[in-house]
Amino acid sequence: MDADFFRKLPKVELHAHINGSISVSTMSQLVAGMSTSYNPDSLKFKKGETGTLKEVFKLFRQIHDVINNEKAVYKVTYDVIHEFAEENVKYIELRTTPREEPSTGMTTISYVETVLRAIDDCAKENLDIIVKLLLAVDRRQSLQVAMDTVQLAVKYREKSNGVIVGIDLSGDPKVGNADIFIPAFKEAQKHGLKLALHLAEVPAPEETITLLREIIPDRIGHGTCLQPDAGGTKDIVEFVESHRIPLELCLSSNIINMTVPGYDNHHFKFWYDLEHPCIICTDDKGVFSTSITEEYSIAADTFQLSSDQVWQLSYNSIDSIFSDETTKQLLREKWKTLKENLLLKS
Ligand SMILES: [Zn+2]
Repeated sequence: MDADFFRKLPKVELHAHINGSISVSTMSQLVAGMSTSYNPDSLKFKKGETGTLKEVFKLFRQIHDVINNEKAVYKVTYDVIHEFAEENVKYIELRTTPREEPSTGMTTISYVETVLRAIDDCAKENLDIIVKLLLAVDRRQSLQVAMDTVQLAVKYREKSNGVIVGIDLSGDPKVGNADIFIPAFKEAQKHGLKLALHLAEVPAPEETITLLREIIPDRIGHGTCLQPDAGGTKDIVEFVESHRIPLELCLSSNIINMTVPGYDNHHFKFWYDLEHPCIICTDDKGVFSTSITEEYSIAADTFQLSSDQVWQLSYNSIDSIFSDETTKQLLREKWKTLKENLLLKS
């Protein structure tokens, strides 16, 4: 399998934060129009670099300083969708925290409307990619803000004709306790929104089992420390396994922010060997200098996957999307059409 194989492979991306996915090209264009001292190259990790979670989240705050107005939010969203489409991502669920920026007049409402407008404009261009959106709750926020986000998601799901499909929980995993958001997540479920929660990025067995039992999330982001040898427990593994909660696995992200010591040690292997639903994702392709094509290539190299296994990994991801059966069937057909050409050539 060469680079071309991974690029041509039709892919699903289910864990991509809009702001962290910003490419160097988009960042350079934004910075060029600003009176800021940021150098676009300093707002990402270069190949081989690592950083603590503290450093990673500092970088995100700097990126937020650049993407602090509607015009920038629009451009980042629009460019990120095009970049994923170029990599043959056929279905993507982007995620972002509604943000307000008093200095530029941006409100959480105008933020969400801007992101949806960019998604809508891409749809009008007939790109070969379906785009959905999750609104994110940041761990630093209060329950009230989380409730507001759920309300925004409900309201704009209607207005956007179903582009918004769920709620995400993210942010620095060492900050706060996610238990406080349980009422907001239950409210989201009551309205039929799906939940993709960043869980156990660092060892937090109590928080993890509480959220699992109270909510039963529809997908888990990272799940780095679910297993006993990584600071989790047997009960947690059993719960996730028996409920078949899909895992969004972002290899490079975990290596760079040092929550996993090396690719060989990545928990992909543990879950993949259990035949548990695993989805390869990028997390923040801009900040971590990666791409979904590269992440598939790294997974195949590290875990010795055949082209058929890589194909199946991508195909099976369709089962875990937050869209209806019709959309899943449409994607499965697309994959089958593309399969022969791709696998025969490799
Ligand atoms: Zn993430």
